[in-house]
Amino acid sequence: MTRLLLFDVDNTLLWSGGAGGKAMGLAFHDLFGIDDGFKRVEFSGRTDRYILAEALRQHRIDGDYEEHQARFRERYYAHLPKMLHERQGRLMPGFPALLDVLSRQPGVRIGLATGNFSQGAQLKLAHYGIDGYFSGGGFGEESEDRAVIVRRAVERLGKGLPRAEAVVIGDTPHDISSAKANGAIAVGVATGTNSVEELRESGADVVFEDFSDWQPAAATLIGAQTGARPGGA
Ligand SMILES: [Mg+2]
Repeated sequence: MTRLLLFDVDNTLLWSGGAGGKAMGLAFHDLFGIDDGFKRVEFSGRTDRYILAEALRQHRIDGDYEEHQARFRERYYAHLPKMLHERQGRLMPGFPALLDVLSRQPGVRIGLATGNFSQGAQLKLAHYGIDGYFSGGGFGEESEDRAVIVRRAVERLGKGLPRAEAVVIGDTPHDISSAKANGAIAVGVATGTNSVEELRESGADVVFEDFSDWQPAAATLIGAQTGARPGGA
Protein backbone atom coordinates (compact mmCIF):
# COMPACT_ATOMS: atom_id res chain seq x y z
CA MET A 1 0.00 0.00 0.00
CA THR A 2 1.42 3.35 -1.03
CA ARG A 3 0.50 6.51 0.83
CA LEU A 4 0.00 9.68 -1.18
CA LEU A 5 0.53 12.65 1.10
CA LEU A 6 -1.07 15.72 -0.45
CA PHE A 7 -0.19 19.01 1.19
CA ASP A 8 -1.97 22.33 1.01
CA VAL A 9 0.48 25.26 0.69
CA ASP A 10 -0.66 28.51 2.40
CA ASN A 11 -0.90 28.31 6.19
CA THR A 12 -0.06 24.60 6.08
CA LEU A 13 3.51 24.49 4.72
CA LEU A 14 4.24 28.19 4.88
CA TRP A 15 2.97 31.67 5.53
CA SER A 16 3.97 34.01 2.69
CA GLY A 17 3.55 37.13 4.82
CA GLY A 18 0.74 38.25 2.54
CA ALA A 19 2.98 38.14 -0.55
CA GLY A 20 0.49 36.08 -2.55
CA GLY A 21 -2.46 38.38 -1.95
CA LYS A 22 -0.35 41.47 -2.55
CA ALA A 23 1.01 40.12 -5.87
CA MET A 24 -2.52 39.21 -6.94
CA GLY A 25 -3.74 42.70 -6.14
CA LEU A 26 -0.94 44.24 -8.23
CA ALA A 27 -1.67 41.89 -11.15
CA PHE A 28 -5.38 42.76 -11.02
CA HIS A 29 -4.52 46.44 -11.05
CA ASP A 30 -2.17 45.95 -14.02
CA LEU A 31 -4.95 44.38 -16.06
CA PHE A 32 -8.06 46.27 -14.98
CA GLY A 33 -6.85 49.45 -13.27
CA ILE A 34 -8.73 48.56 -10.06
CA ASP A 35 -7.12 48.97 -6.62
CA ASP A 36 -7.76 46.37 -3.93
CA GLY A 37 -9.64 44.23 -6.42
CA PHE A 38 -9.79 41.28 -4.02
CA LYS A 39 -10.93 43.28 -0.98
CA ARG A 40 -14.26 41.46 -0.75
CA VAL A 41 -13.05 38.01 -1.84
CA GLU A 42 -12.57 35.22 0.70
CA PHE A 43 -9.10 33.68 0.12
CA SER A 44 -8.88 31.13 2.91
CA GLY A 45 -9.01 27.58 1.57
CA ARG A 46 -10.17 28.80 -1.85
CA THR A 47 -8.62 28.03 -5.20
CA ASP A 48 -6.92 30.79 -7.18
CA ARG A 49 -9.34 30.10 -10.00
CA TYR A 50 -12.25 30.75 -7.64
CA ILE A 51 -10.56 33.87 -6.23
CA LEU A 52 -9.98 35.42 -9.66
CA ALA A 53 -13.39 34.41 -11.02
CA GLU A 54 -15.09 35.85 -7.92
CA ALA A 55 -13.22 39.17 -8.26
CA LEU A 56 -14.21 39.37 -11.95
CA ARG A 57 -17.84 38.68 -10.99
CA GLN A 58 -17.81 41.30 -8.23
CA HIS A 59 -16.37 43.94 -10.55
CA ARG A 60 -18.65 42.86 -13.42
CA ILE A 61 -15.74 42.25 -15.78
CA ASP A 62 -16.92 40.24 -18.77
CA GLY A 63 -15.00 38.46 -21.48
CA ASP A 64 -13.43 35.06 -21.88
CA TYR A 65 -12.43 33.72 -18.47
CA GLU A 66 -9.55 31.58 -19.74
CA GLU A 67 -8.07 34.62 -21.47
CA HIS A 68 -8.35 36.70 -18.31
CA GLN A 69 -6.78 33.91 -16.28
CA ALA A 70 -3.85 33.49 -18.68
CA ARG A 71 -3.07 37.22 -18.65
CA PHE A 72 -3.58 37.44 -14.92
CA ARG A 73 -1.25 34.52 -14.19
CA GLU A 74 1.47 36.15 -16.28
CA ARG A 75 1.26 39.40 -14.29
CA TYR A 76 0.94 37.54 -10.96
CA TYR A 77 4.07 35.46 -11.61
CA ALA A 78 5.92 38.66 -12.53
CA HIS A 79 5.08 40.32 -9.18
CA LEU A 80 5.26 37.35 -6.81
CA PRO A 81 9.06 36.83 -6.46
CA LYS A 82 9.60 40.46 -5.42
CA MET A 83 6.70 40.33 -2.94
CA LEU A 84 8.02 37.09 -1.42
CA HIS A 85 11.35 38.78 -1.01
CA GLU A 86 9.89 41.92 0.59
CA ARG A 87 7.47 40.25 2.98
CA GLN A 88 8.77 38.40 5.99
CA GLY A 89 7.03 35.09 5.60
CA ARG A 90 8.19 31.76 7.01
CA LEU A 91 7.82 28.02 6.95
CA MET A 92 5.30 26.65 9.44
CA PRO A 93 6.60 24.87 12.59
CA GLY A 94 8.14 21.46 11.90
CA PHE A 95 9.07 22.19 8.29
CA PRO A 96 11.24 21.21 6.53
CA ALA A 97 12.08 18.45 9.08
CA LEU A 98 8.70 16.73 8.57
CA LEU A 99 9.13 16.66 4.78
CA ASP A 100 12.65 15.42 5.16
CA VAL A 101 11.68 12.41 7.25
CA LEU A 102 8.61 11.65 5.10
CA SER A 103 10.65 11.77 1.90
CA ARG A 104 12.90 8.98 3.23
CA GLN A 105 10.00 6.60 3.95
CA PRO A 106 9.43 3.72 1.54
CA GLY A 107 5.92 3.60 0.08
CA VAL A 108 5.30 7.32 0.45
CA ARG A 109 4.76 9.85 -2.33
CA ILE A 110 4.58 13.52 -1.44
CA GLY A 111 2.61 15.96 -3.56
CA LEU A 112 0.43 19.05 -3.45
CA ALA A 113 -3.32 19.58 -3.36
CA THR A 114 -3.26 23.35 -3.45
CA GLY A 115 -5.50 26.20 -4.44
CA ASN A 116 -2.41 28.03 -5.72
CA PHE A 117 -1.85 28.47 -9.44
CA SER A 118 0.88 25.93 -10.29
CA GLN A 119 3.70 28.38 -10.87
CA GLY A 120 2.64 30.43 -7.85
CA ALA A 121 3.00 27.31 -5.71
CA GLN A 122 6.39 26.62 -7.30
CA LEU A 123 7.64 30.16 -6.63
CA LYS A 124 6.49 30.07 -2.99
CA LEU A 125 7.98 26.62 -2.31
CA ALA A 126 11.25 27.54 -4.03
CA HIS A 127 11.48 30.78 -2.06
CA TYR A 128 11.41 28.81 1.18
CA GLY A 129 13.64 26.03 -0.18
CA ILE A 130 11.15 23.15 -0.09
CA ASP A 131 10.19 22.74 -3.75
CA GLY A 132 12.35 19.65 -4.15
CA TYR A 133 10.15 17.52 -1.89
CA PHE A 134 7.07 17.48 -4.10
CA SER A 135 6.38 15.42 -7.19
CA GLY A 136 3.43 17.26 -8.73
CA GLY A 137 -0.19 17.30 -7.65
CA GLY A 138 -3.35 19.31 -8.27
CA PHE A 139 -3.34 23.10 -8.71
CA GLY A 140 -5.52 26.18 -8.48
CA GLU A 141 -6.01 26.85 -12.19
CA GLU A 142 -7.82 23.55 -12.61
CA SER A 143 -11.10 24.27 -10.86
CA GLU A 144 -13.01 26.65 -8.60
CA ASP A 145 -13.86 23.51 -6.64
CA ARG A 146 -11.10 22.24 -4.39
CA ALA A 147 -12.47 18.69 -4.49
CA VAL A 148 -11.64 18.53 -8.21
CA ILE A 149 -8.06 19.61 -7.45
CA VAL A 150 -7.68 16.83 -4.88
CA ARG A 151 -9.08 14.33 -7.38
CA ARG A 152 -6.55 15.38 -10.03
CA ALA A 153 -3.71 15.16 -7.49
CA VAL A 154 -4.74 11.64 -6.49
CA GLU A 155 -5.01 10.56 -10.14
CA ARG A 156 -1.59 11.94 -11.02
CA LEU A 157 0.37 10.80 -8.01
CA GLY A 158 -1.40 7.48 -7.73
CA LYS A 159 -0.89 6.58 -11.38
CA GLY A 160 0.05 2.91 -11.66
CA LEU A 161 -0.64 2.32 -7.96
CA PRO A 162 -4.02 0.59 -7.64
CA ARG A 163 -3.79 0.36 -3.86
CA ALA A 164 -2.66 3.89 -3.11
CA GLU A 165 -4.30 5.59 -0.15
CA ALA A 166 -4.50 9.38 -0.16
CA VAL A 167 -4.06 11.69 2.81
CA VAL A 168 -4.91 15.39 2.43
CA ILE A 169 -3.21 17.78 4.87
CA GLY A 170 -4.56 21.31 5.20
CA ASP A 171 -5.53 24.18 7.50
CA THR A 172 -9.15 24.91 6.53
CA PRO A 173 -12.52 23.12 6.44
CA HIS A 174 -12.24 23.35 2.61
CA ASP A 175 -9.21 21.06 2.73
CA ILE A 176 -11.11 18.64 4.94
CA SER A 177 -14.28 18.55 2.82
CA SER A 178 -12.30 18.18 -0.41
CA ALA A 179 -10.48 15.19 1.11
CA LYS A 180 -13.73 13.59 2.23
CA ALA A 181 -15.32 14.15 -1.20
CA ASN A 182 -12.55 11.95 -2.60
CA GLY A 183 -12.57 9.25 0.09
CA ALA A 184 -9.18 10.46 1.32
CA ILE A 185 -8.00 10.67 4.91
CA ALA A 186 -8.31 14.28 6.11
CA VAL A 187 -5.62 15.71 8.35
CA GLY A 188 -6.15 19.20 9.76
CA VAL A 189 -3.42 21.46 11.07
CA ALA A 190 -4.43 24.57 13.03
CA THR A 191 -1.68 26.87 11.76
CA GLY A 192 -4.10 29.02 9.78
CA THR A 193 -7.19 30.85 11.03
CA ASN A 194 -9.21 27.75 11.94
CA SER A 195 -8.90 26.19 15.38
CA VAL A 196 -8.35 22.53 16.23
CA GLU A 197 -12.02 22.33 17.26
CA GLU A 198 -13.27 23.87 14.01
CA LEU A 199 -11.18 21.45 11.95
CA ARG A 200 -12.45 18.54 14.00
CA GLU A 201 -16.04 19.68 13.59
CA SER A 202 -15.54 19.95 9.83
CA GLY A 203 -14.83 16.21 9.77
CA ALA A 204 -11.05 15.88 9.98
CA ASP A 205 -9.86 12.38 10.89
CA VAL A 206 -6.80 13.70 12.71
CA VAL A 207 -5.98 17.28 13.78
CA PHE A 208 -2.65 18.75 14.83
CA GLU A 209 -2.08 22.05 16.60
CA ASP A 210 1.03 22.31 14.42
CA PHE A 211 3.81 19.98 13.26
CA SER A 212 6.53 21.15 15.66
CA ASP A 213 6.53 17.63 17.08
CA TRP A 214 7.38 16.32 13.64
CA GLN A 215 8.49 12.78 14.51
CA PRO A 216 5.15 11.50 15.87
CA ALA A 217 3.39 13.57 13.20
CA ALA A 218 5.36 11.76 10.49
CA ALA A 219 4.44 8.41 12.04
CA THR A 220 0.75 9.36 11.98
CA LEU A 221 0.90 10.59 8.39
CA ILE A 222 2.47 7.38 7.12
CA GLY A 223 -0.09 5.33 9.00
CA ALA A 224 1.96 3.83 11.80
CA GLN A 225 -0.32 5.27 14.44
CA THR A 226 -3.66 5.67 12.76
CA GLY A 227 -4.27 1.92 13.10
CA ALA A 228 -7.70 1.45 11.61
CA ARG A 229 -8.31 3.70 8.69
CA PRO A 230 -9.63 6.99 10.06
CA GLY A 231 -13.06 7.88 8.82
CA GLY A 232 -13.96 4.22 8.45
CA ALA A 233 -15.39 4.11 11.95
MG1 LIG B 1 -4.32 26.76 3.28
